Order: sequence, then C-alpha cells, then structure tokens
Amino acid sequence: MEIICDGCGAVLPQPEWKTLRTGDIEHTYFVCDSCGAAFSVSVTDGKLRKRIEDYTKLAARIKKGHCSEQFHRKVQRLKEENVMRSRELAKLHPLAPLLLQE
Ligand SMILES: [Zn+2]
Repeated sequence: MEIICDGCGAVLPQPEWKTLRTGDIEHTYFVCDSCGAAFSVSVTDGKLRKRIEDYTKLAARIKKGHCSEQFHRKVQRLKEENVMRSRELAKLHPLAPLLLQE
C-alpha cells in the first residue's frame, strides 16, 4: 500500500510496519525513510486484539456467504467498535514519547 508522508510529502511505496509493545499495549507504526517521521497505524490492548480476532473470524464467514442481514450488521458494528477503541487507545497511549525513549 502506497503512503504519502504527511511530514515531507515523500511517497513511501511499501512502508515497513513495525510493532512496539509496552505492557499490554501494542503499537503498530511505520517510519518515513526520507524524514524519519513516525506514523501510528493502530494501537491495541489485549482485549481489543481478541475482539479483532473475533471480527476476522466473523468477516471470513461473511465472505463465504449465507449470512443474515442481522449478522452483517453485528459484524459491521464490531468492526466500528474496534476502530473506535483503537482511536481511544491511541489518545491514551501516544506513540511519540515511546519512540524517543528507544
Ligand atoms: Zn517524511
């Protein structure tokens, strides 16, 4: 996936995703080759990682078909809740100070 760096405008054809773990919190991020700026991709805790796993399994069932409208909505809602939770965690656990410590 091609990404354009917000910092310097460099095009990153395939940024390498890195993970950083502090306790239960896991950050996924990438660093711009050109200016060294770090960008957070997602932040998860153990509970959210479990919910993402659940979502992946349910979404796979949808791909196979034969799922009710209600099931679709349930899976969609789970996905939205996971995204929201990840955003919350990103606010609670900013990435930048962790990278400075490295
Ligand atoms: Zn950059």
